[in-house]
Amino acid sequence: MILISACLAGRNCRYDSGTHGTDYLKIMEKYVLMPVCPEQLGNLSTPRQPAEILGGTGLDVIKGNAKVMTEEGGDVTRNFIQGAAEVLDIALKNYVQCAVFKERSPSCGCRYLYDGTFSGKLIRGGGVTTALLKQNQIPVFSEEDLTAACLIKRILKP
Ligand code: SF4
Repeated sequence: MILISACLAGRNCRYDSGTHGTDYLKIMEKYVLMPVCPEQLGNLSTPRQPAEILGGTGLDVIKGNAKVMTEEGGDVTRNFIQGAAEVLDIALKNYVQCAVFKERSPSCGCRYLYDGTFSGKLIRGGGVTTALLKQNQIPVFSEEDLTAACLIKRILKP
């Protein structure tokens, strides 16, 4: 079983109630997928204020060295940690092999995050849920890596 960010599976769970469509469901049709939204599992509403990690990465949040803040200055760190813990619990109970997550999200980001200034500037690092899964030896792949891999596979197909 593979975890997938719910917004990549057609769920309208983004902070603005949007989704990223269902293209990934087609790419991943051979696999058993379990959609999860860490922010909803952390009791945040939809729609909700956009949030960014201030002072580091998801790993820093787990270590207590950074916070997750909304654009209006609300501290949602506890919600993000709770959501990550819920996703880890789901993963362990369902023998999940890996996750495919939405890039740049403060929960699901894999390689890049916004820097906490809400200015669109990116830093290297993963989100809170990504960090917790990786700490527990569950591989997390970026949706962008997967797109590239699938496109290459299709192009090279005889
Ligand atoms: S990126 Fe992750 S936390 Fe954000 S809406 Fe998608 S599934 Fe939920």
